[in-house]
Amino acid sequence: MTEQPKTADLPEEAQQFLLGVYERAKARLETVIKRHGMRPGLSAAIAEERIAILDHEIRPVFPALEAAGTAVACAKGCGVCCTLTIDVTPDEAFALITYLDRNLPADTVAAIKARAVAADARGHGLEPLARHRLRIACPVQDPVTMACLGHAARPTPCHGYLSLDVKRCEAVHAGIGQDVPQPTAANMLTNVISHTRSYALEDGGAPRQSLELTAALLAAWAEPDAERRWLAGETVLAEAASYQAEN
Ligand code: SF4
Repeated sequence: MTEQPKTADLPEEAQQFLLGVYERAKARLETVIKRHGMRPGLSAAIAEERIAILDHEIRPVFPALEAAGTAVACAKGCGVCCTLTIDVTPDEAFALITYLDRNLPADTVAAIKARAVAADARGHGLEPLARHRLRIACPVQDPVTMACLGHAARPTPCHGYLSLDVKRCEAVHAGIGQDVPQPTAANMLTNVISHTRSYALEDGGAPRQSLELTAALLAAWAEPDAERRWLAGETVLAEAASYQAEN
């Protein structure tokens, strides 16, 4: 991953731009929360909005990178990065299973669940790099086409992860090096929008939690009432908590 500059170290113009992104995202996300209320289904509504916001804000980054001779290398069906350890928030897990359950045939969802059980058995609770070394594919990835079956509701870390060099992704995947060049502007926009969403949900009463994606999907499928309880202020899906290094 490319190391990120701190916002305070950016030129004033860039700081003002990011502040504008934050204010626009905050207004749109708060509108969704107000309209929907802290009730089940909010996660799917928030996902639709956060994906639209990030798509809109990140769009100018692509032609700018191309003009600079450093075009984004990501393409549909690549999926090399889908063996990384993905940390998500509860709403991202709820939105993804809602999307899968609503939009995919029952046998496809059953196959995703089976892959999730197998993947979780291999990687549950492992330190992210150790988990990545096992090359455990995300269960939502189609094993034939390598496409994301939940693309329209993918978590923000997946949405905002862009590579400038697919050969470096493949090298990392093969265990050679750890550095994938990424567009700093895209990373910063992703972080601003992701944090803005977390703050908005937290203001509504949903506790901040970080979960490992595969374990979170399994836990959310096993607890159909978890979204309601989380939006009401309860900590949920505790068995899927992200890896925490011991001090
Ligand atoms: S949710 Fe989709 S994009 Fe994210 S890791 Fe899984 S398959 Fe890849």
